[in-house]
Amino acid sequence: MNRVLVTGGAGFLGSHLCDRLIEDRMDVLCVDNFFTGTKPNVSHLMDNRNFELLRHDVTFPLYVEVDKIFNLACPASPVHYQHDPVQTTKTSVHGAINMLGLAKRLKATILQASTSEVYGNPEIHPQIESYWGHVNPIGPRSCYDEGKRCAETLFFDYHRQHNLDIKVVRIFNTYGPRMHPNDGRVVSNFIVQAVRGEDITIYGDGQQTRSFCYVDDLIEGLIRMIASESGFTGPVNLGNPDEFTMLELAEQILKLAGSKSKLIFLPLPADDPKQRKPDISLASEKIDWTPNVNLEDGLKVTIEYFRSLLAAE
Ligand code: NAD
Ligand code: UDP
Ligand code: UDP
Repeated sequence: MNRVLVTGGAGFLGSHLCDRLIEDRMDVLCVDNFFTGTKPNVSHLMDNRNFELLRHDVTFPLYVEVDKIFNLACPASPVHYQHDPVQTTKTSVHGAINMLGLAKRLKATILQASTSEVYGNPEIHPQIESYWGHVNPIGPRSCYDEGKRCAETLFFDYHRQHNLDIKVVRIFNTYGPRMHPNDGRVVSNFIVQAVRGEDITIYGDGQQTRSFCYVDDLIEGLIRMIASESGFTGPVNLGNPDEFTMLELAEQILKLAGSKSKLIFLPLPADDPKQRKPDISLASEKIDWTPNVNLEDGLKVTIEYFRSLLAAE
């Protein structure tokens, strides 16, 4: 009983999750349509006989036989999910329906990669799972936020209606090697700009905050969550509660990269959340999970990754 499906498995988080599952001697089926994920993210696994890669779009039905499902398929960066917003909602909603239908037929446990974006521009701080959020339903971020909220609704309805074993995690900003260099997320943008000696693009006044979790910590949380006691559905926040302003992040990256890049200030995108920080007491209590990697250590590894990636260009 160790066949595991990872949708979005060729993406940033998905590829690290596939690595971890292979290390744990699981039989891994990685499904991806390569919208933002790439084959190089998983090419080192291709020779492993426990690893299979399938090009498939989760908005279409999928008939395979597995025991556990991690549903990660969905572009995660604002630049990519706003590129084709209708497809983003379809991926979240139709993708969830198909993967839930698959889990129902197989009686498989299924984990949904939800997001801190379900809290929108939050009015309480830090965010706790019982908070319902403050989300604009018709803005440029809505395709992602509302798509993910509807996916959570579907997960809980399949749980109540069909007694499906579901696990919902709300992931807060996560960073590390294999982030897409052009996906517009703040950590990858600042590092690429610092390494290339280009201007660092601060949106707004840089006083907005985020809390950044290193990828290895996050993957440990996903593994613990799918193994959690039967009946524990979440939603559970996974993220690092250390909170920084974007100005602090920029300064830290400049220092660690030894870069002389200048800071420039650009307009703040619409509906950009002002602050974000997870309350992780539920994860700590239920799955004994807390992150271990601090921002400086995680950034050092990530900067090295981008340095070698950019040197190879
Ligand atoms: P990513 O863009 O690197 O990975 C998403 C993967 O899904 C890509 O490989 C992409 O090709 C694939 N995909 C997209 N649409 C698909 C479709 N219709 N069918 C099949 N595959 C499809 O992003 P990521 O950071 O690895 O995020 C993975 C998951 O975690 C996403 O669901 C995202 O919403 C969630 N999440 C990530 C973060 C973060 O900070 N990285 C934060 C919150 C939530
Ligand atoms: N589905 C799938 N693989 C399966 C079983 C179902 O992709 O192994 C899809 C199928 O497209 C279906 C959806 O999941 O429409 C929801 O399945 P469910 O059984 O909940 O509903 P129904 O089949 O009645 O629409
Ligand atoms: N941001 C920035 N400069 C950039 C990219 C992003 O100042 O080059 C800001 C962005 O406006 C937001 C924060 O950094 O306030 C985090 O952005 P990201 O897209 O990484 O994630 P999200 O907004 O989804 O948390």
